[in-house]
Amino acid sequence: MNDHSSRHTPPLKLIIAIDGPAGAGKSTIASRLARKLGYVNLESGAMYRALAFKAINHDISFDDEAALVKLAQGSRIHLEPTIGGNRTLLDGHDVSLRIRERDVTEAASRVSVHPEVRAWMVARQREMGAGGGVVMEGRDIGTRVFPDADLKIFLDADPVVREQRRMEQHKIKGEVAASVAADLRERDRRDRTRAASPLVAAGDAVIIDSTKLSEEEVLDQIEKLVRDRIG
Ligand code: C5P
Repeated sequence: MNDHSSRHTPPLKLIIAIDGPAGAGKSTIASRLARKLGYVNLESGAMYRALAFKAINHDISFDDEAALVKLAQGSRIHLEPTIGGNRTLLDGHDVSLRIRERDVTEAASRVSVHPEVRAWMVARQREMGAGGGVVMEGRDIGTRVFPDADLKIFLDADPVVREQRRMEQHKIKGEVAASVAADLRERDRRDRTRAASPLVAAGDAVIIDSTKLSEEEVLDQIEKLVRDRIG
């Protein structure tokens, strides 16, 4: 009788954390990497965005931590990985496009400063990623959500380059570009200076500066690191 089990070792299902500031290329890299590995890509920022969108709809102040936590507790926020990125479902409704708009982007940055809001998000994110085979992307994945992640990447880039990439991505020019760039800088400042899980590279993260690198080059570097981990 053939013993198939001894010949087919199951693939290792790593937890890969990708953190970094806005515009460093995290989303694109995370989704391409996940596709290559046959993993699931989870964009944790979309969850903060979904809650922020609900707060806007319910007229809840972004500074009211208790009300925001209550709102989160009564919400169903699901990330559905698809080839084109995550579909975000809020209470059963697809909010994927709406949550990318400017007002929600600004609101997400503000609701995410609250420790209790973060605790609720982190608990959900741990449930989603616990089985492994995930590339989870955000600001605190390697430091807080999965401090024992198998591979941690901190993807950074020069602020001017990050702003330019954002403008190109959204095809923004002129005066609007200047104010969008100012928003990005302010979000960055808030992420890095908040007391609860500020944006910082985990001590054991591999820091990749993508300022002068193409997407392919970043992806190659990370794939090499994944191969090292898998052995
Ligand atoms: O990544 P994205 O830009 O979609 O995230 C939206 C906002 O959510 C960020 O500006 C950041 O303030 C917050 N965020 C966070 N922690 C994460 C992911 C996102 O605080 N893990």
